Amino acid sequence: FAPWDDPNQKPLIQFQNVTKKFGTFTAIDDLSLDIYEREFFALLGPSGCGKTTMMRMLAGFETPTSGTIRLSGQDLGQTAPNKRAVNMMFQSYALFPHLSVWENIAFGLKRESKDKDAIAARVEEMLRLTRLGKFAKRKPHQISGGQRQRVALARSLAKSPKLLLLDEPLGALDKKLREETQFELMDIQEKTGTTFVIVTHDQEEAMTVASRVAVMDEGRLVQVATPADIYEAPNSVYVADFIGDVNIIEGNATPDGDRVRIDWAEGQPAIWGTAQKPVASGERISFAIRPEKVTISKEKPEDRRNLLEGEVIDIAYLGNISTFHVKVGNGQIIKAQSANTRRLANRDITWEDRVWLTFTETAGVLLEG
Ligand code: ATP
Repeated sequence: FAPWDDPNQKPLIQFQNVTKKFGTFTAIDDLSLDIYEREFFALLGPSGCGKTTMMRMLAGFETPTSGTIRLSGQDLGQTAPNKRAVNMMFQSYALFPHLSVWENIAFGLKRESKDKDAIAARVEEMLRLTRLGKFAKRKPHQISGGQRQRVALARSLAKSPKLLLLDEPLGALDKKLREETQFELMDIQEKTGTTFVIVTHDQEEAMTVASRVAVMDEGRLVQVATPADIYEAPNSVYVADFIGDVNIIEGNATPDGDRVRIDWAEGQPAIWGTAQKPVASGERISFAIRPEKVTISKEKPEDRRNLLEGEVIDIAYLGNISTFHVKVGNGQIIKAQSANTRRLANRDITWEDRVWLTFTETAGVLLEG
């Protein structure tokens, strides 16, 4: 499933050079983006980067200052909010407290149609989809938070929107329920084939549910890619740092074929990376490497090129994995993470130990600056 790689696929949603200003403040800055049918698309970024503004423009609560947004090729600027095949599910899901689950789901349908049988059939279908059948007669206060969330979802899907917008949909749920609900959301999204666009602060959530993730910064898209590509091949220090944990080793580049030597600290051996694009001699460059790609040991490995010596100053034990914080030559802290399997020697590594850190040239990515 990669419609974004197929030139014959027409996007469901197209942002074309969209700018949104509030007074003199630019919230969305000349942004272009395609989202495809059946995608589960996540918008990620720090507070204030413009995620909600994107959603509100799709829903029709805001209009772009310039540029166009199309849904199935049609300019949304020409379509009233209530005529759009778009629905929005809010974080503070406002269910009607005096109506039953069944009536809550039927509410929007009743406003559009008088066909009672058709409405009942659709409500039953939604109850089955969200596994709420046995709660149909209960009022919202008689069901759990997770179940209420499913009612809100059933209600927003009942009218078969082409696009469902989810703004922090699971924000009110505790971690365990949240994780369960993520899989439920994915399952329901797949069964209905509806395109979902989700805004979340939780990067793990975005990585779990999304077909593609857009990382935003100050009203712009920094990278749009699959979760694996965002993690494995971030296009900037900003993205590498925003998603997951990363070590950034910054220094001066000396290219040697497609390999690059990085002199990063006086008196420290240089490290080596592999260049994805040409690097100029003397250019400032960052080698970004995930903690789980750094191997830690008490014995000095033989013949390793990327080898740093340091002292363990902190250990975070997380049960399945441990993260070691190691202070290397120039005072920088490098994190190394490893699985706590029985065979691993990291069990004997403790605070203040002298250790060796190694990683391969291809385990990290070279980024500008
Ligand atoms: P958060 O994660 O905190 O919800 P966000 O990424 O969703 O943030 P937006 O709500 O889209 O951010 O806001 C983007 C920027 O636009 C913010 O700086 C915000 O203050 C500004 N903004 C949003 N709506 C308005 C408005 N109606 N008037 C003026 N400024 C606004």
